[in-house]
Amino acid sequence: MANRAIFLDLNGTLVLPLKQQSLGELTLIPGADAAVRRLLAAGFFCPVVTVQARIEKGLFTEAEFRGWFAGFFAACGLEVKGPYVCLHRYNHPCPCKKPRTLLYEQAAADLSLDLKRSYTIGDSPSNVEAARRFGGMGCLVRTGWAADDKVVEQAQPCAAFIGDTLGQAAEWILHREASNSTIAFRSGRVST
Ligand SMILES: [Zn+2]
Repeated sequence: MANRAIFLDLNGTLVLPLKQQSLGELTLIPGADAAVRRLLAAGFFCPVVTVQARIEKGLFTEAEFRGWFAGFFAACGLEVKGPYVCLHRYNHPCPCKKPRTLLYEQAAADLSLDLKRSYTIGDSPSNVEAARRFGGMGCLVRTGWAADDKVVEQAQPCAAFIGDTLGQAAEWILHREASNSTIAFRSGRVST
């Protein structure tokens, strides 16, 4: 279990708009590709963990989503892993919905990850809460839902870092890794 991951959220973190009606509308957030490239170059896996409630609503199928994902990130030249997808509605009590940790555990099994030495980056509280639950560190970025101060407030107790962009989160992680390289990885958060 020597590998480490930066788990990336999709909508609002890597792509916009948040309330898309079709997959074709989604575009990469400027700078996200450069940030992911830096994380990959530092030796992290970047699995994408995403809730796609529009699948159960019937706006597109799981196969269409997976096809879009593969094509989109191949075109960007980014070797992200996954996608690890919850395809249930938002109120469905499934074990795969963030902040529940099933999808992170699946990625950990697939990629031999040490979750306690891994991170999440996302634009909503569920992403940083998931990191707290699996023992890693969560970074909140304000590119999507967390553009709203109320969302930032909700996420704050679980967030190890809050920044404006994926680039800032990547910078924080890499700086932290460089300064922590000689000491044990440990969480700086208050436990709840
Ligand atoms: Zn689910």
